Amino acid sequence: MNDINITAYGATDYVGRSSFLLHSRDHNILLDCGLQLVPKQFSIAPKGVDNIAHKIDSVLLSHAHIDHSGYMPSLSKNGFRGNFHMTHPTKEIVYKLWLDHLKIEGRRHWSESDLDKVFRRIKTTEYNKPFKISDGITARFINAGHVLGAAQILIDWEGTLILYTADINDRITPMFDGYDVPDEEIDVLLSESTNGDRYVPERSKIDVGLRLMAKQIVDEKNKMILPSFAVGRSQEMLITLALDDDLNDVPIYMDGMINHMNMVTEHFISDKWVSKRFLEQLKDAGLHSPFDKQNLIPVPSISNRTHNSRKYISSNEEGSIIVTTSGMLEGGPVHTYLELLGSNPNNVLGFTGYQVDGTTGREIFDGNKNITLRNNYGKSKKVNLKLKVMKFPYSGHSSVDGLKELMVKTKAKDIVLMHGEKRNQDYILDFVKDVAKPRLLKEEVPTKLVSL
Ligand SMILES: [Zn+2]
Repeated sequence: MNDINITAYGATDYVGRSSFLLHSRDHNILLDCGLQLVPKQFSIAPKGVDNIAHKIDSVLLSHAHIDHSGYMPSLSKNGFRGNFHMTHPTKEIVYKLWLDHLKIEGRRHWSESDLDKVFRRIKTTEYNKPFKISDGITARFINAGHVLGAAQILIDWEGTLILYTADINDRITPMFDGYDVPDEEIDVLLSESTNGDRYVPERSKIDVGLRLMAKQIVDEKNKMILPSFAVGRSQEMLITLALDDDLNDVPIYMDGMINHMNMVTEHFISDKWVSKRFLEQLKDAGLHSPFDKQNLIPVPSISNRTHNSRKYISSNEEGSIIVTTSGMLEGGPVHTYLELLGSNPNNVLGFTGYQVDGTTGREIFDGNKNITLRNNYGKSKKVNLKLKVMKFPYSGHSSVDGLKELMVKTKAKDIVLMHGEKRNQDYILDFVKDVAKPRLLKEEVPTKLVSL
């Protein structure tokens, strides 16, 4: 028998260290190879991948986020000799994220020389262009609507079609118009389930609230801090604010890795990678890039001493908005801003993304006011936050209705749920049972997908 099987090394009934091996007697293809980020601890590697690295033919990466890409550089070290396939933007973004990861965790999982080896073996492909992985197996990247360059991966395995969604978003976001659905009928759908029990509001409605609040806060000469993930959410926030004419005169400061990611984003502003609607919007505004607007100010450009810049921004009389990392307040410039601005009850901290349990962001989100902050030099300091806290329910993942729609439209006969908490999966499972044969995975236990 030559069946196609799947073995998960992470992200079964939780989010983190996505890593899935599709395997038959003759072939082994790895989909993603991420790390699980744990608040205030070192990240966790996908258990078991080291032992099978030597027999993998090819690795396919859906997108740059560390929970999908962070353990990839260790594969060569453990005997992997094939190629890494990804989109061009993913290659640019992931390189920066890997370097950043080295800075944060050191050589725990892999080293600079492992990174070099990966880079020599990366093959980039556009969306919707099939490419060969092995004899009888081709793959295609399909727009996922999640972050720049993010792809679903469609695999044609000797005529059996397997679609791996990785992280998808159905909502219209500033740069994308949601995920694309392949024309073909799919045999097996490997579906994320992050928001399996949740309806996510339309972006435009959240955007209206954010813009109105921002205007009101700066009109009263106060400051609004928007901690955001460097890849994706920060660009979305900046575009949402930059393209609002009512905020044309408001200084919007950008601090942290965001500035580098903006440059990468600018490079890929074309109809190959972003929506036509976004390109039209830019044209109407007379802009080549949304980050070209006069009122968007990268913090390092203000003074050659970054800390002085942050002090200046925090102490001047103007009303302003600060978009900065890190998104869950686990470190980064946002700590300095909270130290400088957190004691004023008129300032506002606006959450723009999900806050994982155990993060400093989650503590504040849940109402804790006594927080430990770390400055640039790693020194900690207890502060009592008095600023207002606001929550904007953005999500980078598909709403439950978008997940169901993909299941129906692809006509998948088998649906494997992954990348979601158990309670999210339990909720959507009833629906899956109505439209297909549902599957759940156990870590490191091979599950048969198809008999060939
Ligand atoms: Zn992601």
